[in-house]
Formats: sequence, structure tokens, C-alpha cells
Amino acid sequence: MTADYLIVGQGIAGSVLAWTLHLRGHHVLLLDDPTLPSASKASAGVFNPLTGKKLNRTWKADELFPFACQFYEDMQKSVGSELLHFCNIYRPFRSIEEQNSYLAQSADPISAKYVLEKADNEKFTSFIENPYGGLQITQSGWVDCSEMVEKVKTFFVSKSQYIFENFDYQHIDFQKEAVFYKNIEIKKILFCEGYEACQNPFFNWLPFNPVKGENLIVLVEDYPLTEIINQGTFILPIDGQGKCRLGATYSWDNLDWDITDEARDSLEEKIKGYLKKPYQILEQQAGIRPSTDDRRPFVGLHPEHPELGIFNGLGTKGVTLAPYFSEQFAKFLESGEDLDAEVNIERVFSLYFRSKLS
Ligand SMILES: Cc1cc2nc3c(=O)[nH]c(=O)nc-3n(C[C@H](O)[C@H](O)[C@H](O)COP(=O)(O)OP(=O)(O)OC[C@H]3O[C@@H](n4cnc5c(N)ncnc54)[C@H](O)[C@@H]3O)c2cc1C
Repeated sequence: MTADYLIVGQGIAGSVLAWTLHLRGHHVLLLDDPTLPSASKASAGVFNPLTGKKLNRTWKADELFPFACQFYEDMQKSVGSELLHFCNIYRPFRSIEEQNSYLAQSADPISAKYVLEKADNEKFTSFIENPYGGLQITQSGWVDCSEMVEKVKTFFVSKSQYIFENFDYQHIDFQKEAVFYKNIEIKKILFCEGYEACQNPFFNWLPFNPVKGENLIVLVEDYPLTEIINQGTFILPIDGQGKCRLGATYSWDNLDWDITDEARDSLEEKIKGYLKKPYQILEQQAGIRPSTDDRRPFVGLHPEHPELGIFNGLGTKGVTLAPYFSEQFAKFLESGEDLDAEVNIERVFSLYFRSKLS
């Protein structure tokens, strides 16, 4: 068997990269171990151009966001399933001080284009505490990541281009013109294993800084809102009939994939601080975000084995980073077009050579 690319791991990274390369005419094989957990299945899929306490514009939002939206719009047409949900994000102010500073920041022309001039505060009053009003962020929404991953899997399975197994690194065989994995001859193997990349003997030197996250799926009584509410912890309406996702936690310790009482209690405490409606917990989910020390993705080829590549480090923003950098990676693989220096793993090659000395 032959293929242009064998993609190992099918979360957001592997799915989007496989889709991009396939659309550009390459023969792609996807390999994933369905018994392994995945961050993408726990992902809220939110894209938000203004984040943090200072309403910072997300890195490269002006380029990444339109590109990602177009990508998921096209994809949902192809797979026949709703993946992209546009909705505003309402940020209720916690105090007069916060109201003043947010309103000042949102007047900055860089942020202003992402903020509604006048938020519809009344609309939210029966559902949440918002005595000081709030800010409504636009050009935001969420992508149904589980559905996206499922649809991409179905597509490649239907073309017999999908392997269900745990990748065995010992079966990589480097030959002159190609690389083999078991009996498959491939131009390049592209690793998209998320947090599990820390176990990859070829790329475990990369400076990951993984962050565990948990969220809750709940049913809120009488809750027809479709906007995401975000006051540090968010309420994301899934179906407009009360089913919502509450999230998310951030933990740099205990990097396992288990759900915890601690995370559930912390989320509940925060949500009860502003949600006025009763709710019932349906499910709890956990995942490990493949974040990096410098908060930029890891894209590129291995320093000594150019037959091996990596597309990882999507951290907290997999939904918006994956489409744009998949396309960039595809062009790099096809014709050597430059990768953005901030994502190219060449920026940390010194760590690889240092690791070989020790
Ligand atoms: C609680 C939570 C909330 C989040 N919310 C958002 C959000 O709102 N917006 C946003 O943009 N991002 C969000 N993220 C981040 C986002 O989920 C990640 O950026 C993204 O999922 C990373 O995708 P990935 O494909 O790199 O990794 P993963 O989704 O973990 O996928 C890795 C895949 O590789 C496979 N794999 C690994 N090793 C092997 C092997 N040896 N053999 C075979 N298969 C293997 C696994 O089975 C898995 O399917 C959130 C994450 C969490 C945990």
C-alpha cells in the first residue's frame, strides 16, 4: 500500500490537516487509536476574538478567524452536518470598575470592530445576574468538534483510508526515497497525537506545557438563550432548549484524563454565582490541551528525519489555529513555502540537539 501522507491522530489537528491535504489532491491515510482519549472530544469549540481580562485581541484573529469560518462552512456543506454555530458572546460586568475598564478597552479601534455598540442587557436579565450590564462580542461562536471529528472519520473510512490502531513507532523504517510504516510506503508521516506526543520518541523534546480542562454538560430550566455567556466560566447553549456546556477548568497538575469532583465543584460554584436558573448535570468531560511553553503551535519537520512532521501544540485554540496552519503546512510540504516563524518548530531545534548531547 502507498500514500502521500500518513496522519497519526485524529483530533482537531489530524482531522483538519487530513481534510486540507485531501482537498489539495493528496492521498491521505488517517490512523487513530479509538481507545485513547482526546482533547477534541471535550472541547467546547469556542472561537472568541477578544479574550482575557484585558479583552486582548486573539493572536492573528483578523487572519485566522475568517479563514477558519470559511473552512468549517465549506466542510459542513461537504459532510452534510451543522458544524459551525455563529453566536455572540455576552460578558456581564462584575462591578462598576470592570464596566469602566471594559468599556474603555472596547473603544479601542482594534477591539471595537468585534464589539456591539450597544449590548442588549435586558435580554439577559431574567437568566443571569447582570446589574452592571455587559459587553457583547461579535464574530464569535463555536464549532461542534466531536461532530466534526466523527464526520471526518466517516469520510476517510468510506474511502478505505483509515486505520484503527495504536501507532507503533518501532515500525517506522526509513528508506532512501520514502518512509515505511509496516507495509505502507509513505512520503511523510505527520504526527497529530495531541498531548500523547510527549510519548513520541521523535518529538518528545518539544516544550509542551499541557493543561488539563474539564467541563459539564447540563440541562438548564427555561433557558432559550443562544448567546454564550462568559464571566471567566462560560455557559454555551448547545441546542437552544436548555442543553448547555459549562466550562472550562485549567489545571497544570494531575495530568490524567479523569473527571474530578474538584473541577465539578469549582465550575458549579462559579456558575451559581451568576446563573439564575436551576440546572441538572447530564455529563462531565475532561481532556488535556496540548499547550506549549510559548503558546504557539508546533508545525514542521523533524530536524534529522524530514520524512516525519508534526502538527500539534494547538493549546486552548485548536478550532481557529488548525485550519489556517493546516493550509500553511500543506503549502510548505508541497513547495517549501515559508511557515510562520512563530509556529515553525525550527524555533526550538536547539532543544533537540541539546537533548541528544545529554
Ligand atoms: C475542556 C476543554 C475545553 C476546550 N475548549 C476549547 C474551545 O472552546 N475552543 C478551542 O479552540 N479549543 C478548546 N480546547 C482545546 C482543543 O480541544 C485542543 O486544542 C484540541 O482538541 C487539540 O487537538 P489535537 O488533535 O491536537 O489533540 P487531541 O484531540 O487530543 O487528539 C489526539 C488524537 O491522537 C490520537 N493518538 C494519540 N496517540 C496515538 C497513537 N500512538 N496511536 C494512534 N492514535 C493516537 C488520539 O486517539 C486522539 O484522537 C479545549 C480543550 C479542553 C480539554
